[in-house]
Amino acid sequence: MTQRLDEARAALRKTFGYDDFRPGQAEVIEAVLDGTDVFAVMPTGSGKSMTYQLPALIDPRLTVVVSPLIALMHDQVQQMRGFGVAAATLNSSVPEAESRQTWQAIRSGDLRLLFVSPERLLMEGCMEALRGAGVGRLAVDEAHCVSQWGHDFRPEYREIARAREALGSVQTLALTATADAATRAEIAERLFPAERPARTFVHSFDRPNIGLTFAAKDNPTRQIERFLRHRRSESGIVYCSSRKRTEQLAESLSKDGFRALPYHAGLDQRTRMKNQDTFLQEDGIVMTATVAFGMGINKPDVRFVCHADMPTNVEGYYQEIGRAGRDGLPADTLTLYGLDDMALRRRQIDEKDVPDERRRVERRKLEAMIALCEGAACRRQSLLAYFGEASGACGRCDLCRGGVTLVDGTVAAQKVLSAIVRTGQRFGAAYVCDVVGGKESEAIRRNGHAALKTFGVGADKPVAAWRAILRQLFAAGAVAENDDGYGGLTMTEKGEAILFGRETVALRPDPEPREAEPRGRRRNAAAGAGTDLDLSEGDEALFQHLRGLRASIARTEGIAAFMVFPDRTLIEMAKSKPVDLWALRSVHGVGERKREAYGERFVGAIAEFLAGDARRGSGTA
Ligand code: ADP
Ligand code: ZN
Repeated sequence: MTQRLDEARAALRKTFGYDDFRPGQAEVIEAVLDGTDVFAVMPTGSGKSMTYQLPALIDPRLTVVVSPLIALMHDQVQQMRGFGVAAATLNSSVPEAESRQTWQAIRSGDLRLLFVSPERLLMEGCMEALRGAGVGRLAVDEAHCVSQWGHDFRPEYREIARAREALGSVQTLALTATADAATRAEIAERLFPAERPARTFVHSFDRPNIGLTFAAKDNPTRQIERFLRHRRSESGIVYCSSRKRTEQLAESLSKDGFRALPYHAGLDQRTRMKNQDTFLQEDGIVMTATVAFGMGINKPDVRFVCHADMPTNVEGYYQEIGRAGRDGLPADTLTLYGLDDMALRRRQIDEKDVPDERRRVERRKLEAMIALCEGAACRRQSLLAYFGEASGACGRCDLCRGGVTLVDGTVAAQKVLSAIVRTGQRFGAAYVCDVVGGKESEAIRRNGHAALKTFGVGADKPVAAWRAILRQLFAAGAVAENDDGYGGLTMTEKGEAILFGRETVALRPDPEPREAEPRGRRRNAAAGAGTDLDLSEGDEALFQHLRGLRASIARTEGIAAFMVFPDRTLIEMAKSKPVDLWALRSVHGVGERKREAYGERFVGAIAEFLAGDARRGSGTA
């Protein structure tokens, strides 16, 4: 068996130009080559696709990959062809003539990978023809689409088990990055027969190369801009909770000199596709998007993901930040959250027309998200714990770096609660905090609230500190919105217990907003991020030069930049400066086909750059 794994490793080098397997890949590939059914749960970016791509190169029979999105299939095919692997897709958007060619390749045994939508696979004619041609295995990508609890439920996925039997009970491999145990159980049940359960692999959900930072909202646009300031040439996503906000933010970032584009389901199809393509194909684009943007974004060099508003739940949060750093290089995230988000989400769940059981589940999930935001323990540890994984403190998240300590906040809480009660439980957070802080606004004067005993009892702290306290009381359920629909706050039973001293409450001061750590773009801050990929100034110039060449090739060929070569490949080229095709062989990500297709141009560009450098050098000497 290890012999076949060696064969797989050789193909990994030859075809893809990768040195070795990523953690977890080898054992799954070994099981697949063994012929058993396999269920692999691995985080995004771990290289799940390789677990069917490599076996497809070794086994002469056809591998059929079921994939939920046409755009995704299209990308996967392009990427595979880029590596010189015979791949094709059948779906409703493929022209007739091309489909005919694909069927020919299937019948003649020339095709290695066929990507299909579940609808297409289930069509009578398709299934029959595939059975006739002989299918070696079925790979089910994004297998969580089978689960109605997931966010990407696709009813057609439920029929895949039937398709598999119709194809002659072929070997099946299911892949997902779903971290939640209930969804996993449902996938196993729906895709594999009870009497023949699949070999299951569940890998750690830690993504050590992704940095985690949370911050309470103060001025979100400014906070995002501050975060982006050191990331000008990088690609990333900023998630917003509303369509309007994506457009506003894109506009304001554009004014600030960023190339920012909005994406949401309300944009017309053409604009949406254009913006998505620009993001995929070019470097340094900031996508301001709703969560409609995401599935099918295979771009490996997304360097940051921000949440301008608090994510809906921890699963969504994990999935969204997971789109950063698929290439294994360091990536950063920033998650903003505020009382308004918490209130909005609670209201949305209350108003949703769903069965009570579902509402309870959603409430629990929201509370877990709030707890993650307001937590005082390591973010990574809390996140992994949510998914049932034990770990130590990471030492790198904002809380590990900032060392937050909880203090007894009972007296401070009483001041806020008392202000809420004395003003009649009908004002919003800003008003209440002004009362406590003793800031006499026009409205406060009008309502005569400056005369209250609680007015100004908290003048020793800035109003921002009171906002942080009120937010935490809201998060803890001591304060809630009242029913008038204007965002007025009311004290709950728990709040009453605190006000009358029957319960204490621990609070934490909001940390000072800190500048992003001074960092090299690719500094190997992350444990396990592999070799150090930081560049000297001169090498950085060469890297940018090579990026320019990559962009022009990508444009001419109409493919994404990373499909020519990923960043990591260009970084290694900039460091090792290969000037002939032989030297290019050992560079990460340069397989046979890409060396043939692009090798000359890249080594030529390097030689030219070095010659220019030498001339410049001698000119100044
Ligand atoms: P996932 O589906 O798990 O999110 P992908 O299969 O899309 O991850 O892989 C992410 C990126 O990592 C891709 O660009 C892929 O080519 C690359 N990759 C996969 N396996 C390896 C490996 N062993 N070494 C280096 N890069 C790899
Ligand atoms: Zn930590």
